[in-house]
Order: sequence, then C-alpha cells, then structure tokens
Amino acid sequence: MDARIENITVSLLQAPLIQPFRIAIGEHHHLKNLLVRLKLTNGTVGYGEAAIATHITGETIAQTQENLLIAAKGLQGQGAADYLRISNWLHDSFPLNKAAVAALEMALLDALTRQMNIPLWKMFGPKPHRLKTDITIVIGSLEETQANTKEFYRRGFRSFKVKIGRDMDLDFKRVAAVAKLAPKSPIILDANQAYSDKQTLTFLKSLDKARIPVALIEQPVLKSDSEGLKRVTRLSKIPVCADESASSISDVMGLIRNKAVDAVNIKLMKTGLLHAFEIARLARANNLKVMIGGMMESNLAMTAAAHLAAALGYFDFIDLDTPFFIKGAVARNPYLTHSGIYDLTKVKAGIGIKLLSS
Ligand SMILES: [Mg+2]
Repeated sequence: MDARIENITVSLLQAPLIQPFRIAIGEHHHLKNLLVRLKLTNGTVGYGEAAIATHITGETIAQTQENLLIAAKGLQGQGAADYLRISNWLHDSFPLNKAAVAALEMALLDALTRQMNIPLWKMFGPKPHRLKTDITIVIGSLEETQANTKEFYRRGFRSFKVKIGRDMDLDFKRVAAVAKLAPKSPIILDANQAYSDKQTLTFLKSLDKARIPVALIEQPVLKSDSEGLKRVTRLSKIPVCADESASSISDVMGLIRNKAVDAVNIKLMKTGLLHAFEIARLARANNLKVMIGGMMESNLAMTAAAHLAAALGYFDFIDLDTPFFIKGAVARNPYLTHSGIYDLTKVKAGIGIKLLSS
C-alpha cells in the first residue's frame, strides 16, 4: 500500500440537459463541471467530479480549476493511503471551494479502492443497501409540472421533490397537481431559501387545509435566517430539513444545538466525502433525519454519493436524481435503473463509473 500520487489532471465535463433544472434562485441549462483524473505511481487511475453551482455556493469554474491545479502540485508524491491527512490539508487549503475538495477526495478514494480491488462502499459499511431516488419537479408552469409528474410517475418514480419559491399561488397549484397525479407518493418541498418564515407557515397551512400531505420541507428560508428556520420547525407540523444552512460539520452542530431542524440534506459538494460521512453519523446520532443529495452532477459524483448512502443504509431520503436530467446519462450507468434504483452490488472496484471522456 505504498502507492503515491503521480499526477492529477483537470478537464471540463460537459453535457446537455433534457430540460433546464430550475430552482427558486437560479437554473442550470447544461451540465458544466470539472473532471479530476488522479493517477497513482502503480498506474491505478481514479476519477472525481467538481459540480459547480455558482447560484447556490458562489463557487466558479475558473476558481475551482485554479484551486485544483494548485492542489495537484501540492499532492504530487503523497502516499495515497494517507487520505485522512490529505483530506484535512484540502479542507485547510480550500475552505471556500468544497467542490474542489469533494472532487479530489473522490478521485483519491476511487483510485485507492480500485487498487485495493474493493468497491467504494466498503470504505463506509459492510454491504450496499439498495436505494431508490426521488425525482425533482423543477420550477415551471402548471402545465409543465403536470406533464413532468405524469411522465416520471409512469416511469415508476414514487417520491417527488417539488421545487417552489418563485410564486406562492402557482406553487400551491403545482404541489396540488403533483399530489393528484402521483398518488401515494411522498412529496418533499424545496424552496431553496426563497420564502420567509411567515410565508412558509402560511403555505404549509394552506396545503394542510386542502389535505395535501407533505413529507418534508427543505430550506424554506435564507441560510442566514437561523431564527426563522427554527421558528418554522417549531410551528409547523411538517418536518423541516436544512440544506444551504447545513454546509459544514460546524453548521450541523449549530443546528443540533439550537434544535433548529428535523433533518439535514448531505451533499458531497458542500463538504467533501469524509465530512459528509461524519455529518451523517452525527446527525443520525442526534435523531435528525438524513437526506443524501447533490448539485447538478453526472453519474460519477452521484454514484459516489450513492456508495456512501448505500453503505450506511440509514438515509431517510434519497435525492440522487440529476442523471435523469442529463441526456443519455442513465443509459450509461449500469448501477442505476430508469425508475431510479441504485444497486451497487455489482460494482467490482472504486466508484465503478466509466466516463466517455476517459
Ligand atoms: Mg435543496
């Protein structure tokens, strides 16, 4: 186990989307991420992905690329089995660019588990649980919402995440439409910080009055509005989940201390892989529900996240659906079915994803 990092290269990872991925605070029209290729001295290669969501995290492609190249220099010659120390160094060096940290950790752990000849999930648990992802209904007209819901329900999806936050009246009609067209399917709402606490409580009350069941509401208020978040949690019957407000271990510790939420959405791009593992453990031990999610990610990063969630086996909400928005992506993932099931039992080594550009 004395393989060292020989070199790290970075390239663009681009793909067209089937439809724009629209949320309250912005949208993606295509996938434009960075691909990290990390080669060990014994010839093993690992891959990682940085998904940059500028409208959510403020990170940019240019800055991430620059940081990845700085890291590439710093990591040359380091022992791959030293991944814990390397992870600490990455967090210290790039505190404002977690997508870069995530990509490098992913590439390193992919390479490391490939050379150990084990699937990535064996870093985190003894067996890979089967996961079934929800599907996102992006912000759009009522007609678009209806058409998308019908299509995804027909394909076998039975859990729906409805993006809300631009227009409360329309949001109400859209959520009602999803409830009607996707019977017996849990509905998760995600406002991506766009409502106030008052608006959220009014909105949830109106859904309750109309007997539209909601399983969870994610990030109703601004991430800086910790009091508002706590108020919604205290006054609403619907469980509340932090996403943007849960962007680090320390954020999650604060949420636990303040009893501010009922659940957290864990994403590799917010914290890297190893801190995501820590957050899951910590949240679970403190009786928070846990969701595994992602940014606009290709099969590579999404399947890496699936490895973590599958090994832990206790995630309450699976939100790993962005491959369904990328043209042809699901067809190229042997571990993901068209109805959203991740089955990693057949992964032989590493993340297991082969990339077209590799
Ligand atoms: Mg979210």
